[in-house]
Amino acid sequence: MNIRKNDTVMVIAGKDKGKQGKVRFAYPKQERVLVEGVNFIKKHSRARGAVRQAGIIEREVSIPVSNVMLLCSKCNHPARVGFRFLADGRKVRFCRSCGEVMD
Ligand SMILES: [Zn+2]
Repeated sequence: MNIRKNDTVMVIAGKDKGKQGKVRFAYPKQERVLVEGVNFIKKHSRARGAVRQAGIIEREVSIPVSNVMLLCSKCNHPARVGFRFLADGRKVRFCRSCGEVMD
């Protein structure tokens, strides 16, 4: 998975296509990400005792990582990401269209 927490991504598929947001959580095992402001669901809940309030709760749910692309800060569009090694041996991600290193 080439998306990590705190990355800025663009949604390229699904109902929130075109939206941008910051990755709040990444779930590499499930290959899903939780993106700020993306994929809100409305949950109708009933009051259960004193703990839960009745009403509509809106919250974000994770989406498949295949629905998002990393946004390149330099060319400002969704980037195809490549990997390369720096001189010091670090593995970094880079934008395939402009070559900008993203780590
Ligand atoms: Zn770029």
